[in-house]
Amino acid sequence: MENEGGGWAPDFDAAELVRFLYVDHGGVVRGKAASHSRLQERVTTGIGHTVAMMAMNMLDQLQDVRGMGPVGEVRIVPDPTTYVPLPYAPGAGAMLADLRNLDGSPWAACPRAFLRDAIAELAEHGLALVAAFEPEFTLGRRVPSPDGGLDVLEPVDDSLCYSSTGFDRAHDYAVTLLRALHAQGLEPEHYYPELGHGQQELSIRHAPALAAADRHVIYRETVRGTAFRQGLWASLAPKPIADQAGNGCHVHLSLWELGSGGEPGRRNLMYDAADTYGMSSTAYHFIGGLLAHLPALTGLTCGSVNSFRRLAPRMWSSAFTCYGMDNREAAVRICSPMRGREAASSNIEFKPSDSSANPYLALGALIHAGLDGVRENISPGTPVNVDPATLSPEQRAEAAIERLPDSLDAALNALEADELLMSRLGPLRSSAYLTVKRSEAQDFATHDAAYECFHHFTKF
Ligand code: GLU
Ligand code: MG
Repeated sequence: MENEGGGWAPDFDAAELVRFLYVDHGGVVRGKAASHSRLQERVTTGIGHTVAMMAMNMLDQLQDVRGMGPVGEVRIVPDPTTYVPLPYAPGAGAMLADLRNLDGSPWAACPRAFLRDAIAELAEHGLALVAAFEPEFTLGRRVPSPDGGLDVLEPVDDSLCYSSTGFDRAHDYAVTLLRALHAQGLEPEHYYPELGHGQQELSIRHAPALAAADRHVIYRETVRGTAFRQGLWASLAPKPIADQAGNGCHVHLSLWELGSGGEPGRRNLMYDAADTYGMSSTAYHFIGGLLAHLPALTGLTCGSVNSFRRLAPRMWSSAFTCYGMDNREAAVRICSPMRGREAASSNIEFKPSDSSANPYLALGALIHAGLDGVRENISPGTPVNVDPATLSPEQRAEAAIERLPDSLDAALNALEADELLMSRLGPLRSSAYLTVKRSEAQDFATHDAAYECFHHFTKF
């Protein structure tokens, strides 16, 4: 709706309570809510919050991080342009928020500021990124474990991949979810039951980078909130059920010339009709940057211990550092464009990514890595148009194809060794992130798979 000044203003009237949401270093969506009577004021001032919450891991174990102790305060300041009503929580609405210093400047550990800065750096090169997150999730019920242990996620069906039985079993939930996503302006595109029991995939239309990350948070909230309301439990965790297909969240990316106002302009700079695969040299260099930083990137895009149960060969999740044309086992897939819409629909798909990541950190890091490739003219090498798992170790070595990190610890070590990503994260954010994530790795290392699955399907 328009306000008196002609600008856009959300219709807060319907909401008794408005949640100000952010994503922490554990990848968990958290926030505080303002009641209707204080809302207008809180939109400007934000709500006070302890700096320590960015040192909290996904098990609610507070970590020792310098600058994130019991002393110190930030404000959770919402972005009114992100306001959505919450169809699964009648009477409530939500906005995505920044974490700001008391003087209003971005806090050095604000995840949304990290993505904003990456977008600004890209803009300095005349580029704008458009992205779409492609999440999968498992629909089920949270039930007591048959052996008396921790609760398990019992999937709603044992239907086959893309089968009509799967459509029928999840139908009421899927339609409610679609309506809820539409009501929040999210533009859902495709829906289908996928390979794992109870597994669903519902994709959302692409958007400029910041909006794409915001949309993914709203999506995660809606998937879970809609399930809770129907007595179900939905999980976007990478492997909520250890022996079932994993839930990925591939990220589709395209680079556009910078339009007025900093938004993507009219020309998709990834497309080149003259190239065998329809990709421009800018696109190849961007891919080169992604591959060069790939092991480190997984420390941010595959954000949890559970992520590495998913990243295995022959799972269509990608497990090796390579790219290929429509290759669903490559970490970066060049997606064949849509006939008649080649220029507009050319994009690449980054596969080693899932919904336990903080989407702002993940997408910001993808931008920094790809931009490094563009700036330094990094070649991605030869495309791999076979399943890399079918190559011999010698063939892989010759083509410089490496196995992706096989644990969160290995991914975090690669991240810590990556000078570019560490410098862009900055000292406060990087030390907090590494400390929080390493504490999770340490905790899960002393427990079994049932404990790991329980703690991930209940959080993500
Ligand atoms: N479930 C796979 C993953 O974990 C993706 C399957 C697909 O290509 O849709 O990434
Ligand atoms: Mg899928």
